Amino acid sequence: MTIASVAFPNALSLAQTPTPLQALDRLSASLGGPRIWIKRDDLTGSHLSGNKIRKLEFVLAEAQQQGCDTLITCGGLQSNHCRATALLGAQLGLKVQLILRGTPEGQADGNLFLDHLAGANVACYPTKEYVKNLDALFAHWQTHYREQGSKAFVIPTGASDEIGVWGYIQCARELKADFAQHQIDPELIVCATGSGGTQAGLTAGASLFELNAQVIGMAVCDNSDYFKHKVREDLDAWQHRYQVELDLDALSIVTNDDYMGPAYGVAAPEHIDAIQLLAKLEGIVLDPVYTGKAFAGLLGEIKSGRWSSYSDVVFVHTGGIFGLFPQKGEFIF
Ligand SMILES: *Cc1c(COP(=O)(O)O)cnc(C)c1O
Repeated sequence: MTIASVAFPNALSLAQTPTPLQALDRLSASLGGPRIWIKRDDLTGSHLSGNKIRKLEFVLAEAQQQGCDTLITCGGLQSNHCRATALLGAQLGLKVQLILRGTPEGQADGNLFLDHLAGANVACYPTKEYVKNLDALFAHWQTHYREQGSKAFVIPTGASDEIGVWGYIQCARELKADFAQHQIDPELIVCATGSGGTQAGLTAGASLFELNAQVIGMAVCDNSDYFKHKVREDLDAWQHRYQVELDLDALSIVTNDDYMGPAYGVAAPEHIDAIQLLAKLEGIVLDPVYTGKAFAGLLGEIKSGRWSSYSDVVFVHTGGIFGLFPQKGEFIF
């Protein structure tokens, strides 16, 4: 497949791309395994940083095409996706309704603070109610906006759907150019997996653009069986909608669920250590919900020797810095 033959749908230009691919030479030398590279998708913007903005470039183009004036989406209290949606809504002049999981305590911090700052309408629900009634909550808010004469566009968790998949297909295209520029041919691309869209896009994109790398998602919630299914489901819907020629049965969808720790959003000491190590050694900041866990996974696999035959591995830094501050109590200096 040549790059030109993949027909991308319309996208808004919202993210600062291409992002840099950098070698982590001090870290690689200290571990003694493959050379570690980092794709700096934490630099897709400042307050609009991270992976969600790449997906939203495609999703919001669709919302605008449909003439919508309101966005409705959902996530945890510290959702990076909700924060990106809130800020982009403000940037584009769209109303934003957030359906959040959890009960806020004290002053709003991190992403939730930015949601409020961007003027999003924030509705929080206790976890039990949210999990049980999410579809009904979406229906409730859609009706609410329809009755006000607004036209709302619904974005699922993490913008991981058949449209959002394009964001990381586009990133795979960038990686192809990065690898050529640095004259490397990495065996692995590692990312954090929460709702599966990043992994889905990278996996499809790696095949479309003939990268030799296997994509590995490091799960931060749910198990690898769940993500095998979820990633495939998103790609089936994507292929059905856009009719892209690609043998989905031939894709190798790999998720490692050994490093997620006690629960979504709860970091273990190994995750905190990984965040501190990268900050001290390379001056790059990870987060305790996604990238810290995925990076602990990368470190764990390298230390185990399982990746010792590889020459180059790439970690996709998907952002999340605002989720660090509400958990600063986990760090001891
Ligand atoms: C959402 C998120 C992820 C996970 O991406 P998915 O496409 O939802 O699997 C990883 N890192 C950060 C910082 C995120 O906000």
